[in-house]
Amino acid sequence: MSFRIGYGYDSHEFKAGVPLVIGGVSLQHTHGLAGHSDGDVLLHAITDALLGAVAAGDIGSFFPPSDPRWKGANSVIFIEEAMRQIALAGFRVVNVDTTMILAAPKIVPHAAHLRARVAELLRIAPECVGIKAKTPEGTGTDNAAIAHAVVLLESISVEAMLREAEAEADSELSIARAIDGDGVQ
Ligand code: MG
Repeated sequence: MSFRIGYGYDSHEFKAGVPLVIGGVSLQHTHGLAGHSDGDVLLHAITDALLGAVAAGDIGSFFPPSDPRWKGANSVIFIEEAMRQIALAGFRVVNVDTTMILAAPKIVPHAAHLRARVAELLRIAPECVGIKAKTPEGTGTDNAAIAHAVVLLESISVEAMLREAEAEADSELSIARAIDGDGVQ
């Protein structure tokens, strides 16, 4: 069994007249989050945490903002690609913890709903999803929503473990060869 951690961060600017979507959930608010996609700051931070945990790049490397295909995109597709990448690497999610920083709306009344939706997307129990929010005291970022996310992954299969063991043995072998002096010059 092996573990990985991942960390992700994102921010989006509030914009009047745009629907607000956070954690895959539509929230009633005067402003939404501007962005090339649906501006779901929380799912973007979680996507980057998942990709980072398996060193698979970041959300922009899979979904470049310059690509018109992702204009107004539902950010659930970003999470789904990140879940595919961690599965390819032989991992699954253990838990995720997040903190959002935004002046409004209050997240607490929606936290249970957000936890349930994020849990569904990450195929874990709601008890394994942390949703926290703070107001931007003294940071001057009332016009933005910011999200931080950390994830823990665990390896999933015997095959994955064997692959890792093989890679480890290979590197030990090359170290041994280098020490013996018959390695690559
Ligand atoms: Mg973003």
